[in-house]
Amino acid sequence: MKVYLDNGATTKVDAKVFEAMKPYFTEKYGNASSLHSFGREANEALEKARQVIAAKINAEPGEIIFTSGGTESDNMAIKGVAYASQDKGNHIITSTIEHPAVLNTCKMLEKKGFRITYLKVDREGFIDLEQLKREITDKTILVTIMHANNEIGTIEDIGAIGRICKEKGVLFHSDAVQSFTKVPIDVKKTNVDLLSFSAHKIHGPKGIGAIYIRKGTSLKKMQHGGSQEFNLRAGTENVAAAVGFAKAVQLVKEKEIAQIAKLRDRLIGGLRKIPDTMLNGPAGKKRLCNNVNIVFRFIEGESMLLHLDAKGIAVSTGSACSQRDLKPSQVLTAIGLRPDVAHGSIRFTLSRFSTAKEIDYTIKCVKQVVENLRQISPLRRGYDG
Ligand code: PLP
Repeated sequence: MKVYLDNGATTKVDAKVFEAMKPYFTEKYGNASSLHSFGREANEALEKARQVIAAKINAEPGEIIFTSGGTESDNMAIKGVAYASQDKGNHIITSTIEHPAVLNTCKMLEKKGFRITYLKVDREGFIDLEQLKREITDKTILVTIMHANNEIGTIEDIGAIGRICKEKGVLFHSDAVQSFTKVPIDVKKTNVDLLSFSAHKIHGPKGIGAIYIRKGTSLKKMQHGGSQEFNLRAGTENVAAAVGFAKAVQLVKEKEIAQIAKLRDRLIGGLRKIPDTMLNGPAGKKRLCNNVNIVFRFIEGESMLLHLDAKGIAVSTGSACSQRDLKPSQVLTAIGLRPDVAHGSIRFTLSRFSTAKEIDYTIKCVKQVVENLRQISPLRRGYDG
């Protein structure tokens, strides 16, 4: 049995998405900027796709810019605001659990003279709204806090963050790559000025994403060239991918969120029956519907990943192997896990294609693997003294 539970990393392209994209490679391949019928046809498809993305968050089509994905959208938002607002201030507030696309962009800006505040999070990954209020100064130009965390599924209260930012007159960007279509967002009701999205997390193609930029927000463009995308992102648009992205959005059904959450809780329930386990991140409604992240004490995540892979189950760990150095995930240490405990964490991320049969098979296999690994675990021996 093959079970794909790494949908937080990427998802399979829905067959209907692929079908919708195909004609834009082989028949309707015009450049959306060309004036002839091929170009007009491509441009029409591009604008329709833009409308679909905009409607999903109650934005205007002119507020949606297509990019190459979440990473580019995050870069565009943060650097774009930073360089456009230098005369107002040099202070940016973010959190310690952001995706590297945000954290490393902030670190780069720090080297260029910007001051960055990294808000700490609690055990479940939530920022402290009072601390956010206290950290905003008259030099603060941007707050960038993710909507939902990619590792532990924490859904931050972007409504409350937006209200604070509006009160203080500071722009607010949120990385919504993991939450898009899973947690409703209405930009007319929520005070968020910039949002980042990516298609490949929602059964769309890789290499395309979007950024929402509230009308009137001033942004310095990062890429120079043609006047595509309202003169904010130069380069020939990837029409086929935009069409696929929009189709992926249209295919999301509201009721599937609750179904995925039910399977998530079935998996959490089954895995938590294994002794010495702990759930990372919150339970229930404040957790992404498809995210499960569990610590298995006395086990090394990488061994577990490989053993599960041998049984056909794809999951991920929070650790990043860099040469021989096994660094624990920054997110897991930020929520207070000791490095050795963080190393025993596994992330399982579901999709609408996940089934109860797959979940039950996974629970059964994880139990076996944990038992086997614990029998030979030096960590366990150390613990037992
Ligand atoms: N932000 C978050 C929260 C993510 O999970 C990811 C991808 O894992 C990204 C940004 C980067 O998106 P992309 O792969 O489209 O560049």
